[in-house]
Amino acid sequence: MPELPEVETIRQDLRKKIIGKKIKAVEIISSTVARGCGPATASFLRGKCIQEVDRIGKLLIFLFAKNNHSLTLHLKMTGQLIYVFKQTIIGGGHSFATLNAKLPDRHTRVIFTFHDGSKLFFNDLRKFGYIKLVDPAEKAKIIAGFGIEPLTPVFTLKAFAQVFKNKKTNLKALLLNQKLIAGVGNIYADEICHAARILPFRRADSLKTAEVKRLFLATQAILKKAITYRGTTFNNYVDSEGNVGNFSKHLKVYGAQNARCKTCRSGRIQKTVVAGRGTHFCVECQR
Ligand SMILES: [Zn+2]
Repeated sequence: MPELPEVETIRQDLRKKIIGKKIKAVEIISSTVARGCGPATASFLRGKCIQEVDRIGKLLIFLFAKNNHSLTLHLKMTGQLIYVFKQTIIGGGHSFATLNAKLPDRHTRVIFTFHDGSKLFFNDLRKFGYIKLVDPAEKAKIIAGFGIEPLTPVFTLKAFAQVFKNKKTNLKALLLNQKLIAGVGNIYADEICHAARILPFRRADSLKTAEVKRLFLATQAILKKAITYRGTTFNNYVDSEGNVGNFSKHLKVYGAQNARCKTCRSGRIQKTVVAGRGTHFCVECQR
């Protein structure tokens, strides 16, 4: 699933391309992805000008000029956004080979066409992703449902430590809980625990003050670095300036089961199921 760094990467890319652009047409191919509001959403969006592309956690929020409604878009498990204009192809989201394919294809669920002829394709193999038009009250409710957002001023050590108070759940489950911390998914939860030298199955309320601080710093450092390298899951990416980036080369534990630990160089990376998810760690350097 695309996590905070992948969604932030596509957000930053899209901002450069679509802000100020006017929507000419929206074709909603899958009513599932539009949650049954396809025709109403398409007619609302026609003629609207993109004012901003925001994000909270893994959710993208498109804002429009002179209108209070927003369009939320979630990529979920297999969602992808591909922007196409003449020779420029920019994609983000789930790892895939669509950039080489002709669009639309059989996984295209929504097509946004702008007045200048550029197009934004929302592809989603498994159709768990969605678009939803929301009014200001609904948007406020959605945002209030998210926990603290890393890499923003509200993400302080004090607020982070508060999340751990009286939590009997394990650390991995806590990091994955979007209502507590926004945007961290399976890959980065494992990398954060490793960087903080803490085992992911530890009970959250057993962590010492120094350990919580290490986790706090690791969360920011890992996510920031992943954004710099344009995320992990999207490895076919080449942007209009020819930039290629991938954080997967910098992963220390995720997907590295049985390999020697890159950090301590003595342990082997183990994999078990924690919080219902495949979880990677090194017992030599994580406690
Ligand atoms: Zn190790």
